[in-house]
Amino acid sequence: MHCSAARVKVVGIVQGVGFRPHVYRLATSLGLSGYVRNLGGSEVEIWVEGAAEQVQEFVRILREKTPRAAEIEEMEVSCEEPRGYAGFRMERSSDEKEKISMIPPDFGVCEDCLKEVLDPASRWYCYPFHSCAWCGPRFSVMYKPPYDRGNTSWRDFPLCRKCLREYEDETNLRRFHIQGISCPECGPRLYLVADNGEPVPAADPLREAARLVDEGYIVAVKGIGGFHLASLASDDEVLMKLRVRKRRPRKPLALMALDVSTAEKLVEVDEKARELLESPAKPIVVLPRRTDSPVSELVAPGLRSLGVMLPYTPLHYLLLLETRDKFLVMTSGNESGEPIIRDEEEALRKLKGVADYFLLHNRRIVNRVDDSVVRFTDGEATFLRRSRGYAPRWIRLPRPVKRCAIAAGAMLMNTAAVATENYVIPTQHIGDVENIETLEFLVEAIEFFVKAYNLRVKESLVVADKHPLYPTRELARELAERWQAEYVEVQHHVTHVAALMLEYGLSEAYGVAIDGAGYGDDGQIWGGEVIYVSEDSSYRRLGHLEYLPMPGGDRATHYPARMLLGALVKTSGLEDGLSIFLKGRYHELLPGGLVEATLAARQAENSPRTSSAGRFLDAVAAALRIAHERSYEGEPAIVLEEYSWGGSFVELPLEVENGTVLTGEFLLKLAGGELSSVHPRDLARSAQQSLGRCLGLIAKEQGARRVVVSGGAAVNSYIVRGLRDVLGRDNVLIPRKLPPGDGGISSGQIFYSVLSDRI
Ligand SMILES: [Zn+2]
Ligand SMILES: [Zn+2]
Repeated sequence: MHCSAARVKVVGIVQGVGFRPHVYRLATSLGLSGYVRNLGGSEVEIWVEGAAEQVQEFVRILREKTPRAAEIEEMEVSCEEPRGYAGFRMERSSDEKEKISMIPPDFGVCEDCLKEVLDPASRWYCYPFHSCAWCGPRFSVMYKPPYDRGNTSWRDFPLCRKCLREYEDETNLRRFHIQGISCPECGPRLYLVADNGEPVPAADPLREAARLVDEGYIVAVKGIGGFHLASLASDDEVLMKLRVRKRRPRKPLALMALDVSTAEKLVEVDEKARELLESPAKPIVVLPRRTDSPVSELVAPGLRSLGVMLPYTPLHYLLLLETRDKFLVMTSGNESGEPIIRDEEEALRKLKGVADYFLLHNRRIVNRVDDSVVRFTDGEATFLRRSRGYAPRWIRLPRPVKRCAIAAGAMLMNTAAVATENYVIPTQHIGDVENIETLEFLVEAIEFFVKAYNLRVKESLVVADKHPLYPTRELARELAERWQAEYVEVQHHVTHVAALMLEYGLSEAYGVAIDGAGYGDDGQIWGGEVIYVSEDSSYRRLGHLEYLPMPGGDRATHYPARMLLGALVKTSGLEDGLSIFLKGRYHELLPGGLVEATLAARQAENSPRTSSAGRFLDAVAAALRIAHERSYEGEPAIVLEEYSWGGSFVELPLEVENGTVLTGEFLLKLAGGELSSVHPRDLARSAQQSLGRCLGLIAKEQGARRVVVSGGAAVNSYIVRGLRDVLGRDNVLIPRKLPPGDGGISSGQIFYSVLSDRI
């Protein structure tokens, strides 16, 4: 390129991250004139003119050096005729919209801001809302793009003179034209109230809140995307109280630790984990608990892991700093099954009786966004929940869509997604869409995207899961009707495979889709599937787990011993099956004991059947007597996986016949005591790994050289290892950008619609 003027268009995370000041400094340092401006939808346009070498140099540096939180997705440069600009200017935002751009996610507090917050000489000393170009809330405070102060909840806090001076000072890299800056003089304020809403007088509400937590109280804390419940994590009595009040008997609670060295005292932190913990997204990372961890067993009963995150705002950092332990429980403050709470009034109403005190502030949460959760699957980081710090980043499609699309997802751990231009944009984590509150949250998240990206819903395609009882399907139909848009459904496990095809840019794939449940094409409950999806979107079910009865239907998903009993009855008949079950004393795992077992055995004949991998893992956990109840999604499977840590692989009699994994026979041998010479830990590990091997064999026999693995059970390290035993490590692709579970379904629905050429 050799021209004395250039127009540059940049798409990506380029707004609200100090990108324009960066451009300004770069241009002026090279003696170029022109302008930089945000376009609506948050794309940035740059005009530079001057000496040709300098223009060229500008483009080169711009490509190579991006500010910390920024991300250049696309850069378009065109040669132009100089217009004779005098100097370089940052222009006001334009509502003109050409290309859409990514809405920045929230960024965890940066080192520089923390330093200022801890420096007694700084004007931000002990200021809980400090942020800069590199850090702070973005998506959670945005009413609409572009990211200008007036479009965010910062608009309630006009800059004071000192802040304004820094905002206008082009030499101030972290604050020049940064929309989310503030200080103790002009920014939001903290206050503390009791559970009746009465103010608690305190010179320093934050320090007082820390003191109350140390005394054993539960304090609700308003953060950036919602509320947390903060409590001691080292005190059994406090945790018992919290669990009773939250009506959450065993589901693990997230922890927040002051810094990495504190986290290292709680869990095993390796290099990869440290990197994740300290990344700008600051997710919850699930890691092995240290044997000498000071954390109470009640934080994650029955588990050998803990979910830990680092403080992602100065508020959290200062709160932890003032507490005695330097680590706390920080669990999302919502009623069981309801979406995260957003405002003070709602918090006081809904958390009454749960929290004793409320640490609040007066900056509004515009978009609710839960903490993200990441774990390691056979050494690779995978999402359990993709939300704060990641949403609403997009994923690129192989080609632009012909019209926009809206996908409603499935049911549990749900997200929605939209498609426009050549992107899929999944929403933040919405939750289990089982009640009106969560459904409303889903609609709100969809509507935010429709507005933010100016989607023409009338011409759109609305996509839903095939399951006749999913409320999201009902919602999708209503939306399609309201918009007079086309409506289409996709099978659940095909969608799981499609989500991975999107991630890895594949036009056809052999997929292993393993999860708890999804509605199958034959009307049965699927969940352990090997599926081939071709370029033209047609698909073939190549194999699956044996259909096992679920005695009592839904109750079998809550009491895993019922699944075991169902397998025994199917394989050995009613009488023999029941007698093996009773002989193993498995009825002791059922709340109704002998009576329930006898009844359930009879129910087995006429119960729904499932090929679900999750239900198989449940039955194995029951057979090993390590799980008797599923009190939260996936509990027995998680317990089984962690129980296997340190176990060795031994060959087990889990076989494949005509594309079916014979799980019934295997469970019969396991419960009948035929494998009792094998150590239970080795048994547990090998059952999972053998399942992976069987699924891998089915795929391989059908010609697969490489498979994608998806579905909630795809995070199971041993299943993935089993697949890799058969196909080779690099030929088993696991989810990285999207959650493997149903949080990835909405994006899969979009990609399947691209494959089938509907959009
Ligand atoms: Zn910062
Ligand atoms: Zn100020």
